[in-house]
Amino acid sequence: MTMPGFRVIRPSSVDEAVRVLADNGPEAMVIAGGTDVVPNLQMRLFAPRVLVDIKGIGELRGITCNDRVGLRMGALTTLTEIAEWKFVERCFPVLGSAVRSVAGPLQRNMGTIGGNLCLETRCLWYNQSEFWRQSLGGCLKKQGDVCHVAPGGQRCWAVWSGDSAPALLTVEAELEIAGPGGRRRIPLAEFYRNDGMNRIALGRGELVVAVHVPVSSAFRRGVYRKLRVRDSIDYPLAGVAVAMKVDGQGICRAARVALAAVNPAPQLVHAAAERLEGKRYSAELVEEIAHEAIRTAKPLTTSASTPVYRRDMVRLFTRRALEELWQTRRGNGEKRAG
Ligand SMILES: Cc1cc2nc3c(=O)[nH]c(=O)nc-3n(C[C@H](O)[C@H](O)[C@H](O)COP(=O)(O)OP(=O)(O)OC[C@H]3O[C@@H](n4cnc5c(N)ncnc54)[C@H](O)[C@@H]3O)c2cc1C
Repeated sequence: MTMPGFRVIRPSSVDEAVRVLADNGPEAMVIAGGTDVVPNLQMRLFAPRVLVDIKGIGELRGITCNDRVGLRMGALTTLTEIAEWKFVERCFPVLGSAVRSVAGPLQRNMGTIGGNLCLETRCLWYNQSEFWRQSLGGCLKKQGDVCHVAPGGQRCWAVWSGDSAPALLTVEAELEIAGPGGRRRIPLAEFYRNDGMNRIALGRGELVVAVHVPVSSAFRRGVYRKLRVRDSIDYPLAGVAVAMKVDGQGICRAARVALAAVNPAPQLVHAAAERLEGKRYSAELVEEIAHEAIRTAKPLTTSASTPVYRRDMVRLFTRRALEELWQTRRGNGEKRAG
């Protein structure tokens, strides 16, 4: 489990980082907190010639929030900083709930929101030592030509296992990306490709600068529920994020449900927005959305739990989250911005 040799470059600005990344192409890799990159280097899942350590770039740090532009989190904002940000529970409870569930305190102190949104996909056959992988002849994602999850196909089923992405999907987040052509913004929902090998829409020389959440998504009720082996540290085996706005009469005015760890990308359950808005609570409606969540989820044998159990938990988590959020009484605070 030794690391391959590499050179570390520490740019001090976004422009410099973009230049280094563009010049080195696939030979370069960004490292932020390193909590995913370092174990993966140790397992020899990749061997970049250059590591671009972005931690010295001041522009990538910090949280700002106001009622004109909404929330902006620099890519280097740590998960602990988000969990401890004083407005997270009031303004974006689904995000607070999700980041608190990531790994353990050590990883949350080091791990950044940018790194969490750009994680490598994971799979039982891929996240193993080089020796273990070689004994099976590798897999589609690394050194082989067979997907052990779905051996007949040519698709990699490695799974999206990050927790903050589904939460940010439910509040319609956007990413600010810098690259050789300048800056662009992209809805988070369009950032993920649902392909275990080619997971995110980042081009050569590009890096994530910040995450933006619109004011219109603030004050939605929200929660993230997660299945994992050990509650103290593990990656999700299934994750369900729900955010919704309910008016004083109990009518749903906005609703988003998103899933993690059951597809190669975090995914919105589109039926939730379509069928819940304008409706009052009913057990049948909630069960219907829970079944839609199962239809969106495609858990395969990529992790330590069975697909059947993970699908069942997606249904249960969706139902419980909707019940909890819909039936909670809130004060006026959830309607006010600022
Ligand atoms: C024991 C353990 C348990 C874990 N459990 C969980 C868990 O439960 N849930 C979970 O979500 N994660 C988990 N993780 C993964 C990880 O700790 C977090 O996802 C963390 O937020 C990753 O952030 P980082 O800054 O350390 O990323 P890094 O390791 O630095 O980077 C991760 C990936 O993102 C890319 N990257 C980083 N920043 C940028 C940027 N600004 N622009 C473009 N690309 C970028 C890197 O090139 C790399 O591909 C776990 C890790 C460990 C070791």
